[in-house]
Amino acid sequence: MIEAPGEVARAYVGLGANLGDPLAQMRAAVAALGKLPTTIVAGVSSVYRSAPVGYLDQPDFFNAVVALDTALSPQALLDALLAIEHEGGRTREFRNAPRLIDLDLLLHGERIVDEPRLTVPHPRMVDRAFVLLPLAELDPACVVPGAGPLAALTRAVSAQAIGRIGALAAG
Ligand code: AMP
Repeated sequence: MIEAPGEVARAYVGLGANLGDPLAQMRAAVAALGKLPTTIVAGVSSVYRSAPVGYLDQPDFFNAVVALDTALSPQALLDALLAIEHEGGRTREFRNAPRLIDLDLLLHGERIVDEPRLTVPHPRMVDRAFVLLPLAELDPACVVPGAGPLAALTRAVSAQAIGRIGALAAG
């Protein structure tokens, strides 16, 4: 399906945090997403906890996925995510470094975007249980453009150690 500009699309955003008060930062990010123009928060997954990958000498990560119904383009939504990260105090020191809050645009409707600063579907999402499991809570029948049914992708990462720790409760 091709969406006309301004048409509302279901987008999924991945949240990650491992410093400070990760759950509070994730709640603040969800609240900020809900304030974006032409956007509503349609669902929030449980929170999952996993050990860091890449740079190992840092705390465990907390992750969740948020469903948005939005008329923002993928590029405008990316700009909004980067602004929310910035407000959340993220500093970019090195790849896979600890961070206060990380927001990734996972999916934007059926769209495929391949631009220097934006790739959708997010290129690493299909390898990550901490993205696929929360996404499956929100949309078990999801088909990832270019990668296939979420159910099969989820089976392929079933060996990854990850724990579901419950709802991202308000407060
Ligand atoms: P990272 O620090 O690994 O989260 O990378 C952030 C950068 O990745 C951003 O400045 C974006 O320009 C770029 N990027 C490319 N595709 C995406 C995406 N789907 N979601 C978030 N950032 C993206």
